[in-house]
Parts: sequence; structure tokens; C-alpha cells
Amino acid sequence: MDKNLSLLSKKVAIVGGGAAGLTAAITAAKNSYEVVIFEKSDRVGKKILASGNGRCNISNISLHVSDYSTQNPNFVDEVLKHFSFKDFKKFCNSLGLFLEIKEDGRVYPLSNEAKSVQLLLESAVLSLHVKILYKKYIGKIEKQNSKFILICKDNKEIYGDFDMLVVTTGSEAALQLGGSIEGYNIARSFKHEIISPYPSLVQLQLNSDFHSKMAGVKFNGEVTLYIDREKRNSISGDLLFTKYGISGFAILDISQEASLALKYYQHVQLSLNLLPKFDTNHLIAELTKLTCKLSNKSIQHLLIGLISSKIAPYILLTCKINPSTLCTDITTKDIKKIVYTLTQWRFDVSDTHGFKHAEVSGGGISTEYINPKNMQSKLVKNLYFAGEVLDVVGRRGGYNLHFAWASGFIAGGLH
Ligand SMILES: Cc1cc2nc3c(=O)[nH]c(=O)nc-3n(C[C@H](O)[C@H](O)[C@H](O)COP(=O)(O)OP(=O)(O)OC[C@H]3O[C@@H](n4cnc5c(N)ncnc54)[C@H](O)[C@@H]3O)c2cc1C
Repeated sequence: MDKNLSLLSKKVAIVGGGAAGLTAAITAAKNSYEVVIFEKSDRVGKKILASGNGRCNISNISLHVSDYSTQNPNFVDEVLKHFSFKDFKKFCNSLGLFLEIKEDGRVYPLSNEAKSVQLLLESAVLSLHVKILYKKYIGKIEKQNSKFILICKDNKEIYGDFDMLVVTTGSEAALQLGGSIEGYNIARSFKHEIISPYPSLVQLQLNSDFHSKMAGVKFNGEVTLYIDREKRNSISGDLLFTKYGISGFAILDISQEASLALKYYQHVQLSLNLLPKFDTNHLIAELTKLTCKLSNKSIQHLLIGLISSKIAPYILLTCKINPSTLCTDITTKDIKKIVYTLTQWRFDVSDTHGFKHAEVSGGGISTEYINPKNMQSKLVKNLYFAGEVLDVVGRRGGYNLHFAWASGFIAGGLH
């Protein structure tokens, strides 16, 4: 019998029409499987639309296992080997999606619009005759006589007779844009282990008396992460004080490690350098000179020439220096204290800002019992997983979407 004809009789159910599910659907349909997507929302690819602030940082030309956090790096390595950036480019080409590579290696759609990506994926799926069933929130899956039966959560509608099942339900990060914890429940029901999920690429809540009073102040600084008092990582970039704590790209970048440490109840501290371009000794010398020049002005007046006027009083409060102290009365020890605080201002982190505000989730379905060559479960035949539902989380820069495309593409090859 013709190979394609024999595959046509194979029915594939994909639960979740996000980046991973849509890619799996396109690949499976191209391989002549009969594909149905079950999507709980009223449209597919909602998270794609929100990605990269509406511009969609779709991938990265430099992809390495060290860009990901997972308990099973070999699995990620295999996936990246099976679906490199070159493979992704080929896939985009087949959709008619042009790409733009930025100097730092990040990749965006040439249109600069996430909408192009979502529209082209949706159109490819439909033209390959993939059926999309919207507003079907799958809550339970059973396997009876080698067929998968899907049961809707709310109205208990039942869809049966699927030969293969691909779970691409995402995570509980930014639930308002898609994702769910249902993928974990489905995996558990098939005896797969879940590595307890935690929010990542997320803002951090601070335990201090000042941050909320400085809310809205944005600066280009450097943040250093301390876990159990040990220095772990330093990142430069945008920082923004908020009512709950701190945000900005540098915080999102450092949040992966911070959130993982919080999950294990470790002591997490941030040290902020508000003036990373200055050498400390140079700053001390400059401030000493200025206090002489502006001897009849207050120390707060002097500081607002350096940093935001909203921050200056709290730097002085931390140093236990009265803001109205005249520069003439400021000692060398005071200046050293001020410079130390400006460059190493310590804050305790009490928590992350939670899944609702996180871009992605760390943890998820353990990949120990998933074959990276086809994403099939090693425990249950014809059951596949792909995307963020797995215990793989990337850093900022297009790595999470790349993993969703890669794992979805590999799963869609089925067998
Ligand atoms: C604001 C924001 C910006 C981001 N920006 C970037 C970026 O620029 N670059 C980058 O690489 N990554 C980015 N990410 C992360 C990236 O979008 C995700 O990692 C990626 O979309 C995950 O794809 P997925 O298909 O695994 O899951 P999702 O995109 O979450 O898709 C899961 C789908 O499954 C559906 N679903 C869930 N449960 C069920 C169920 N039980 N039954 C039926 N349907 C179900 C959901 O409605 C959803 O459509 C961003 C994330 C957010 C929130």
C-alpha cells in the first residue's frame, strides 16, 4: 500500500494551538496524518501575538544548551541538534515568513509584527486541512485499546478514536494569554513526573521600605544576584522600581536563577549599581571635590545631580545621613558610605511577581522519559509532548519560542 495512504488513516489529536501545537500540526499534516487541534480559547497562537511586545522575538541564530534551564540538558541538546536555526529558517520559508536577524543574534519577523507569524501559521494549518476545534478545553485523556479519548473539562464532550496524541498545552505562565496546568495533569495520569513549575522571566518583589516610594524610576544599571550570600550573576540593563519591587529587562534576565532559588527557600538578594559606568574611587574623588565646591548646599542637592531626585532621599536614609546636612559637614566616611550604597545597594527579594506576570515557566513535565528524537513518551506509545509544558525554559532572546518550534516540529514527524 502507498505509504501516504496508510498514514492517512492515522488520526492525530493535538491539545493546544500555540507555537508548539501549530508547528506540530503543520508538520504532521505535511506528513499526511489527519490532524485535529483542540484549542480551549477562541483563537490559536495568542501568546505568539503578545510575544516580544508584539514584535515576536521568534528565534536566535546562536542556540546552545546553556541558554536553557532544565534537569536534562542532554535532551535539549538533542532537540537543538534535530532542529537548528537553519531548520527553522527553512520552516519559515515554507510559510512565506521572512526574517530579520539583529546584530545581537535575535531574530524577528521582517514585518516586525507578531501578527504576521500568527496569521501565516494559522493559514498554513488551514490550507493543510487541519481541523481546529475552538473552545474545547480538554481536561482528561484516556487510552482505550490503543486509541486516545479526549474529554472536555466543562461540558464533558467526548472525542475519541485518535491513534496519536500530542500535548502542547503550554504552562501556567501568563494564563490570560493561553496555557494551562492541564498538560501536567494529563502527563501525571500517564505516570510522567512533573518537576514543580516556577515563574521565570518575571519581575521580582522586594522586601524593603523604599521601593514603592521610588516606583516609576527607571535607570540603566547593573544588578548582581546573591543566593545564600554567594555572588551568582551580574547583568546590566534597564531597571525599574515598581510598587511591588523591581522590573526591567535586567531583572527578567536574572529572574530565572532568582526564582529557582526562591523555590528552594534560599535567601535571595539583589545588589544594585546605579552608576555602573563609574569607577568607585573616581566617584569618591568626584564627590569629595563637589562637596568642597558646593559646601553651602545640602547633600541631597548634590546627589540629585547624579541620580533621580526620587531615589536620592532613600540613598541617604540607607546611609543614615540627614538629607539636609550641608556638604561642608559631610565627612570622607559619609562619602564612602554614599558611594557604596550607590554602587552596591542591597535589597532582599521576598518573591517573584507570580505566574500571571511571568513570560514563561520553569519546571514542567520531566523529559527523562521522553525521546528527543520524536518527542514520544517512553512510557506510553503514541503519546507526544512539545513546547513549554516540558521541563525546559530558555533565557530571553527568542530561546523559548525556538524550543516550542523545534519540539513541535520534531513531534509532528510522528512515526
Ligand atoms: C508576554 C510574553 C512575551 C513573550 N515573548 C517572547 C519572545 O519574544 N520570544 C520568545 O522566545 N518567547 C517569548 N515568550 C514565551 C513564548 O511565547 C512561549 O514560550 C511559547 O509561546 C510557548 O509555546 P507553547 O505552544 O508551548 O505554549 P502556548 O503558546 O502557551 O500554547 C498553549 C496553547 O494550548 C491551549 N491550551 C492549554 N490548555 C489546554 C487544554 N487543556 N485544552 C485545550 N487547549 C489548551 C492554550 O489556550 C494555548 O493556545 C513570551 C511569553 C509571554 C507571556
